[in-house]
Amino acid sequence: MAESGFGGHGRGGNGGNGGNGAHAAGGDGGEFQSPALERLVRSLSRLPGLGRKSATRVALHLLTGGGAQAHADELTVALAEARVQVRVCSRCGAITEPDPCRICTSERRDRSLLCVVASPVDVLPIEKAGFFRGRYFVLGGLLSPLDGVRAQDLPFDRLLERLKDGPVTELIMALDASVEGETTALYIQRLLSGSDLQMSRLATGIPVGGALAYTDEVTLQRAFQFRRAF
Ligand SMILES: [Zn+2]
Repeated sequence: MAESGFGGHGRGGNGGNGGNGAHAAGGDGGEFQSPALERLVRSLSRLPGLGRKSATRVALHLLTGGGAQAHADELTVALAEARVQVRVCSRCGAITEPDPCRICTSERRDRSLLCVVASPVDVLPIEKAGFFRGRYFVLGGLLSPLDGVRAQDLPFDRLLERLKDGPVTELIMALDASVEGETTALYIQRLLSGSDLQMSRLATGIPVGGALAYTDEVTLQRAFQFRRAF
């Protein structure tokens, strides 16, 4: 029932003589006639969260969209600058430009509190909220035997070093409320058992503004389990 001679999609190679080159392969498996565009799409599609289809949209936007040239130039400069200037803080593992980062060197931060997070991204919401005045230690991941992330893959030795040379009295584990987060928190607790360090984990329960009737069973159970006295 094909109404034209295009014979539907899913054809390998760049077979057709597709009238408008740019749209010759809308991300359904074919390749662009331009090797340069094809390279750009392949490179973009290796980015996390971008499949070939999204990579194609981004590439076409940068090449043919409104203000394309200016945006592409801006992106090129931003990437080049970021590659030179952005680094990981050698002390806490947060993303920074000066090393050590401003949080690590600030005299106004409470040196007795150390907050362990999984990823540099986790520092952002805590900093944005503005209530935490301690410092951080970024693990760079969570223990996950199923994904092959074992204790030797995470910087627990650096965490121990960090605790040795600073007057930390409380370690707050701000880790995901997931199996991996739990496993990692328990591992750290065991690693440091015997020390007189106070250890705590974030509470789990009903979110602010959340309706009890629509709370999932596990969260509800946690909320009961960790209920507190008035
Ligand atoms: Zn730092």
